[in-house]
Amino acid sequence: MRRGAITQGAILRAIAEYDQLGRDEFLAKYGFERARSYVVVHEGREYDSKAIAGVAHQWDQGRPLRADEFSGGKEHAAAWLKRAGFQVKAVKNPDWARDEIILACALVRENGWKGLDAQDARVIELSGLLQLLPIHAEAERNEKFRNPNGVARKTFDIATRHPEYQGKPTNGSALDLAVLKQFLARPAEMSEVAHLIRQGVVSGELQALAPTADEEFDDEYSAPEGRLLMRRHHARERSKSLRKKKIASVLQRGGRLECQACGFDFETVYGDRGAGYIECHHVLPLHMAGEGRTRLSDLALLCANCHRMIHRRAPWPTPGELRASIEAKYAADRRAAAAIARPRGAGDDVARNR
Ligand SMILES: [Zn+2]
Ligand SMILES: [Zn+2]
Repeated sequence: MRRGAITQGAILRAIAEYDQLGRDEFLAKYGFERARSYVVVHEGREYDSKAIAGVAHQWDQGRPLRADEFSGGKEHAAAWLKRAGFQVKAVKNPDWARDEIILACALVRENGWKGLDAQDARVIELSGLLQLLPIHAEAERNEKFRNPNGVARKTFDIATRHPEYQGKPTNGSALDLAVLKQFLARPAEMSEVAHLIRQGVVSGELQALAPTADEEFDDEYSAPEGRLLMRRHHARERSKSLRKKKIASVLQRGGRLECQACGFDFETVYGDRGAGYIECHHVLPLHMAGEGRTRLSDLALLCANCHRMIHRRAPWPTPGELRASIEAKYAADRRAAAAIARPRGAGDDVARNR
């Protein structure tokens, strides 16, 4: 049986039945739960998107779809409805990302660690800025996305987590607290991060960058600069002309294109396919390097694995530090292997002597 072919007429018919039965009876009749992700909006009213798409399916395809028959994640039904020309919106706005919290935290700091009201011009300005950040897709947002009320609430969530705040903290997330702690520990650095994010969004530069491959692997805690500056950092590292110059300077001095941390040489392992391949890593995070010109000495050559490991968690180790940790791990593994290989009595001695 084909799925996915639902028409506007069938959707309108499902909506009409929904109106007639009422929400609860409609959902119960077809075995759906209340929508948690998306609702379809029709003539100013909201309807559970999956239930409407599933029921519409019976008028086009002969039988309704069950809730568990939708594939392709939570957007499946929403995508069908949109394709048929309907407006779909997110039920709940996405959680605040690190970049957004950094901007809000910078504002609270400027305000003497006090929360701000929704009428405050700075809150209204930040609300507009947050709506420009290229982090949450349009389809994930509803009409209240980062509106002044929400932004004001967030400033109180942050302010009431400050160690000197006397009362009870309002809601807020673990990430709010993590960012606040970073601001308290390194105020100048975090304010600079906020400044660079703001500047990059206002100039439109950050909106032009594609998300990096690392983003999907990293959780929110691993990039203290936030996602947007990491995109900017990666774009800078991928600059073709810089990479060429760096490689040329290494070859000129008789060096090889090998990883500065682990010694991996792409050509040795992959032959022709790997010849000339190496990644460039900028050893300074953007908020420390500033916007000035990149010096070749700030670039390190790394294999793809070591490069990813360096970016995985902050603070980033230098290539030399990563090399030292690889060597230390290797030495520890060899000692452990030697201990296992020894006859039992001798191995026990080693364990006892530790
Ligand atoms: Zn390496
Ligand atoms: Zn890098």
